[in-house]
Amino acid sequence: MNTAGLAGAVKPPITDLSREQLRVLVQELGQPAYRADQVAAWVYRSTATSFDEMSNVPKSLRQALAERCRFAALELQTELLSTDGETRKAVSSLPDGELIESVLMRYPQRWDGTGHERATVCASTQVGCPVKCTFCATGLMGFTRNLSAGEILDQALHFLRWSREHPPIVRNVVFMGMGEPLFNYDATMAAAERLVDPEFAGLGVHRLTVSTSGWLPGLVRLTEDPLEVRLAVSLHAPTDDLRNQLVPLNRRYPLRDLMAACREYQRKTGRRVTFEYTLMDGVNDSPALARALVALLRGLDVHVNLIPMNPVAGIPFAPSPAPAVDAFHDILREHGIICTVRREMGRDIKAACGQLKTEFERQRRRAAAVPAVSA
Ligand code: SAH
Ligand code: SF4
Repeated sequence: MNTAGLAGAVKPPITDLSREQLRVLVQELGQPAYRADQVAAWVYRSTATSFDEMSNVPKSLRQALAERCRFAALELQTELLSTDGETRKAVSSLPDGELIESVLMRYPQRWDGTGHERATVCASTQVGCPVKCTFCATGLMGFTRNLSAGEILDQALHFLRWSREHPPIVRNVVFMGMGEPLFNYDATMAAAERLVDPEFAGLGVHRLTVSTSGWLPGLVRLTEDPLEVRLAVSLHAPTDDLRNQLVPLNRRYPLRDLMAACREYQRKTGRRVTFEYTLMDGVNDSPALARALVALLRGLDVHVNLIPMNPVAGIPFAPSPAPAVDAFHDILREHGIICTVRREMGRDIKAACGQLKTEFERQRRRAAAVPAVSA
């Protein structure tokens, strides 16, 4: 990346640079290449939030880097904590004033002492989303733009830094916030690569998950990609008629093609595929549809994640009641499908993607509309 001659322009975040680009930049600044590894260690594996804190890096290099790059891509605007304290949701602004959301989900050890405590970041990949699923707050916004690799990565780094002082430390990242990651393939996978690179964040590759509404050209690319991230497919319906209404992309890539692509992904990678199924009252939660889902998934090694819908203002769907969720869950399990009901993380802080940004913008508009009263 050419970072020279950027006077007046917005400086790129340092996380937009690949390992090679960081090395080249450090060498261009007259320093040996190993300094790039020192810089990367501060950016990706410490709690530092500025170039000033890089105590083993010469001051001249710190200054030169600060002249060319921003340390962070995002500016935190507000952070909310759920009442159970286990979900933190951040709304951050980008240099062009756009807002995005990211979430940290902490799962404590189970009450009986089994299982491991863990922390997962859910990162956005776009501002808004062009897919326009009819139950999704982000879909309601329409699409504004793709995020850069640094803008995606910094969402994970923000919570990774925080978790170093508040364990459990973040080990999982899901690209499941605002936007369709496979529509922004290169930036999403560049972010994933830097999260996995042992010289950078050093997370396990199987701890990263890309969630898609079914953009097949992207899914085919993911199947071939040497970076072996996990796949989650947002299904929500086992028939084309119903899925066409919920996920408009289904009209272009119907279930037969989507399932064939999932089978191919599994054949090539040997990895289990997660299917997300958001349960909406009277829409997609009947026992007959549960049985149709069993038939659709036959022959695949899957994990089904049932998500009781988060209600969204202006969207006419409601969450399935608990007995319907339980009945749906039971049918899948009776047929041997590994299936979990996602705990409703942070409904009190509007955890469904896109909702907090919408609320934050509403408040900002309201504040701007009130004339300032001078003291
Ligand atoms: N665009 C990608 C990833 C982001 S959406 C995708 O669709 O997979 C991530 C998940 O949020 C999707 O599985 C979707 O089902 C879920 N989601 C969106 N709106 C929701 C809502 N109102 N309630 C519950 N889950 C929702
Ligand atoms: Fe986009 Fe995913 Fe929301 Fe659908 S569910 S509109 S694909 S973000």
